[in-house]
Amino acid sequence: MSPPAAEPAGVVDGAACDLSPPDDAMLARAAAGGTPVYLYDLRRVAARAARLRAAFGGRVGLSFAVKANPNPALLRALGGMVDGLDVSSGGELAQATAAGWDAGRISFTGPAKRDPEIRAALAAGIGDLVVESLAEARAADAIAGGMGLRQSVLARIAPDRVPKGFGDQMAGRPSPFGIDAEEAADTLAQIAALPNLRLAGLHFYSGTQCLRAEAVVENWRIFIALARALAPLCADGPLRLILGAGLGIPYHLTDTPLDLSAVAGDIAPDLDALAAEGRFARPVLELGRYLVGPAGWFLTRVVAVKDSRGQRIALCDGGMNAHLAASGHFGMVIHRNYRLHLVGGSDGGSDGETEPVNLTGPLCTSIDRLAQGAMLPRLDPGALIALHMSGAYGPTTSPVHFISHPIPREAVVTEGGEIVAADWLPQSDRPR
Ligand SMILES: *Cc1c(COP(=O)(O)O)cnc(C)c1O
Repeated sequence: MSPPAAEPAGVVDGAACDLSPPDDAMLARAAAGGTPVYLYDLRRVAARAARLRAAFGGRVGLSFAVKANPNPALLRALGGMVDGLDVSSGGELAQATAAGWDAGRISFTGPAKRDPEIRAALAAGIGDLVVESLAEARAADAIAGGMGLRQSVLARIAPDRVPKGFGDQMAGRPSPFGIDAEEAADTLAQIAALPNLRLAGLHFYSGTQCLRAEAVVENWRIFIALARALAPLCADGPLRLILGAGLGIPYHLTDTPLDLSAVAGDIAPDLDALAAEGRFARPVLELGRYLVGPAGWFLTRVVAVKDSRGQRIALCDGGMNAHLAASGHFGMVIHRNYRLHLVGGSDGGSDGETEPVNLTGPLCTSIDRLAQGAMLPRLDPGALIALHMSGAYGPTTSPVHFISHPIPREAVVTEGGEIVAADWLPQSDRPR
């Protein structure tokens, strides 16, 4: 892994990394190939992976959740940065293996897995199938038996509570995800008895987008306590333990970045105690946005500017269709602006006049907005806007077919600092 050239020397904590400004010349070069475009800086991704490893002092492995960003160029680069991948569909598995990943280093999590997906995963040699229910385990058992193999599985457990502070919760209430902790002992005993499966460990992912260190640590302690209690029901030998990390990123100016060193420092004794017991192999942090979100920008150009009833509106060439999450319709309760800036302009600091402006997209619907009352220098048509924290949940999370506008392009900054087109979503013949 080459050194993180994009990071100012001496920056070692996650907060400073999240907020270190991108190079505007680089953003402008990426936009010259056409907007809207997403740019992912692979040097920053590498720096974040290295920083995570360093923070935990080798106590955890890292697994990347492909659904956060399945761009093939990114997946290829991640091969040298993380230990494994977690996929959420047969399609993601195919993309991961096409990007050079050995299926043995991949786990497959997700609700409503269909038999053909399970069959394809087993045929590909998936490392761990993460079963989310007894019914799914039985289906996998029958498929494995038919193929004459014994498949390694992890049981996904849904804890009965999630601490306050998680932007998105997958447990602690009725949930489609995983086996409810209250029923886990009974269900795991039945899964362990299935002849063509080997219950090789446990998987937890009950909340995400958490910026509070104490809440992250409390959540992992819930996972570890459940894991200890359920370990006797699993196979012999060191078990795998997947901790769905839930680490959040500071999307908004008012967000205080997560204190990663506090998380790592507080959980270290728990991890050391677990390691000393010898029942579990090194736990794996499974995460998406924390690794790649702050390493990506969404670039959109202002097409027209309008003054309407006392407000200034800048109409951009990509909106909700290209970046659903920034429009506030992907799990946000109240829309808040992403961190953003005018490329080549003042960032709203003391050097230069700013004014409030609403950023909207090209869709014929009032829910298509990127920012409300953002403080930016006066915008003219042609101005280039960069939305930060956009390296996760971008193009594949967005309704890119709505109203048949161009599909956003994607590009990466390589470890050598070059900007390379990384388009892979089918670019139709829609006029740009
Ligand atoms: C989405 C997902 C993740 C990653 O979540 P982030 O918030 O991007 O870190 C991890 N594990 C599972 C099972 C997921 O579904």
